[in-house]
Amino acid sequence: MSMNLIFLGPPGAGKGTQAKKTVEQCSVPQLSTGDMLRAARKDGTALGKKAAGYMDSGKLVPDDLVVGIVKERIVRDDCSNGFILDGFPRTLGQAASLDRMLAEIDQKIDHVVDLVVDDEELVGRLTARRSCSACGNIYHLQFNPPPSPDTCECGKGLVQREDDNETTVRSRLEVYHSQTAPLQDHYEKQGLRRKIDGGGRGPDEVFSSIKEILG
Ligand code: ADP
Ligand code: ADP
Ligand code: ZN
Repeated sequence: MSMNLIFLGPPGAGKGTQAKKTVEQCSVPQLSTGDMLRAARKDGTALGKKAAGYMDSGKLVPDDLVVGIVKERIVRDDCSNGFILDGFPRTLGQAASLDRMLAEIDQKIDHVVDLVVDDEELVGRLTARRSCSACGNIYHLQFNPPPSPDTCECGKGLVQREDDNETTVRSRLEVYHSQTAPLQDHYEKQGLRRKIDGGGRGPDEVFSSIKEILG
């Protein structure tokens, strides 16, 4: 049985952390638009160049660009048993495009996992986030500390994202509240929203709530 999931929630809510746990549990791929855009920048593609300025200032990359990469990704073989959309859709326009592309391949969304965390907790999480560009592990210097502040368990170096500074984090939160939060209502009305308390408790406890939903 296929399982098509959306992970919704503000920057720092734990979408990436929980998506990785869900990948292990359900063996479906994680489709993170943020990761795909960062990869495009690293590779110096035309898309990467167009996206860079938006990402650095904490704004959303225009819908047509993001929709394009998802459209290409979602039809690949490894998505035939389902997928986790991590960080997409982020606007009502993207949600409408997603509905159209899923209709074309005769698929639908099963659950929208909405991780709810308050803004001050998010700022504390993002400014101390570190990630591994080799294996994708996500750490927090206090809440989920790596073996050493600049080394991953895999032995490679950790990086701090350029957009995880306090000023850019605050703009990303504003963008979330104005452009992405309307999706909560949108999916609530479709009976797909599964609200999860993503704050004030650790990743394993959050994941047990997700497992209850996935059944
Ligand atoms: P998102 O993908 O939603 O931006 P991440 O999964 O990257 O979020 O998590 C953001 C930061 O918060 C990371 O540093 C991560 O280690 C930390 N984090 C994730 N979940 C929790 C949690 N339940 N409690 C405390 N910190 C967390
Ligand atoms: P976060 O930790 O904020 O959830 P992501 O890695 O998902 O971060 O996204 C990083 C940046 O990439 C965003 O601030 C935005 O500029 C761009 N981005 C990612 N996903 C989307 C999307 N669905 N629509 C528009 N821009 C996106
Ligand atoms: Zn690593």
